[in-house]
Amino acid sequence: EVVVNRIAAGEIIQRPANALKELIENSLDAKATNIQITAKEGGLKLLQIQDNGTGIRKEDMEIVCERFTTSKLQKFEDLGTLTTFGFRGEALASISHIALLTITTKTADEKCAYKASYINSKLKASPVPCAGNQGTIITIENLFYNVATRRKALSNPSEEFTKITEVVMRYAVHNSAVGFTLKKHGEPSSQVRTPYNSTKQNNIRLLYGNPVARELLEVELDDKDYKFKMHGLVTNPNYTNKRMVMLLFINNRLVDSASIRKMLEDVYSVYLPKKAHPWCYISLDINPQNIDVNVHPTKHEVRFLHEDTIVERIKFALDERLTGNSA
Ligand code: ADP
Ligand code: MG
Repeated sequence: EVVVNRIAAGEIIQRPANALKELIENSLDAKATNIQITAKEGGLKLLQIQDNGTGIRKEDMEIVCERFTTSKLQKFEDLGTLTTFGFRGEALASISHIALLTITTKTADEKCAYKASYINSKLKASPVPCAGNQGTIITIENLFYNVATRRKALSNPSEEFTKITEVVMRYAVHNSAVGFTLKKHGEPSSQVRTPYNSTKQNNIRLLYGNPVARELLEVELDDKDYKFKMHGLVTNPNYTNKRMVMLLFINNRLVDSASIRKMLEDVYSVYLPKKAHPWCYISLDINPQNIDVNVHPTKHEVRFLHEDTIVERIKFALDERLTGNSA
């Protein structure tokens, strides 16, 4: 059973950046306003995330890494009305099968923090009291230590760190009210730093630079027919990049969508020379019932109902906005 779980976990968590994405979402779900991330060897040796959210109650610490343990739905039927996709309660369980996972956490009610380590979904020993502020520190050590093929495939820590950085930058833009920092372990300076209560525009300037931030157009769409909303910040055609940068969030989850990516390239191809690309932030809110639940929640690529039509409508809105800004 342990081997099966390990294989399943390795499918869900393919690299440190996937694990980090799950942990950031947990911190955001816990209403954190500050999230600090530390990585060593691209997160393969160490990946730590500290938040100032609600914390985990001591009595929940025993089960928190078991599969399908979640505080985010009461019954199965609630799945359809959740604002995130698909099944729940798999991230920590999966991580504990392919790494040593340690949780230090304190709720507002507790007098002190508690710390516990997990392996294969189970507590290694009872939680021990320790010092700590309200919130949660999740520490992942030696990711894929027991998945030799995966560990070998991820032979370039700096490439993994780049992926981690991209994830943090994207979440920091989307959740601009939350302060984010990303550091390499043992280094005083941070790779990413955004202030608490910032704005998307400000964080785009901080993280992606002035040339992008200067050229942003705002696009809003509230589609009553297909019940979706879009908020976009996209560069006007005065800005060009060597490659396309797309920050896509659907229902607040960082995802990829081949159809939206292609649509963006199409829209800009009218205005830009062949090898020039835009920078696009797109946030979509779609009725969760219309998200393909067959796509696993941790899968990056997402499909949704009426996809062609919705993408077409977004294209139309972008086209309209870009026309007249192409001088
Ligand atoms: P899910 O997020 O789908 O519920 P996870 O495996 O990611 O499943 O997390 C399991 C549970 O652990 C969550 O439902 C939540 O109760 C708790 N948890 C995880 N991370 C945090 C955190 N940073 N702060 C507070 N609670 C957390
Ligand atoms: Mg989660």
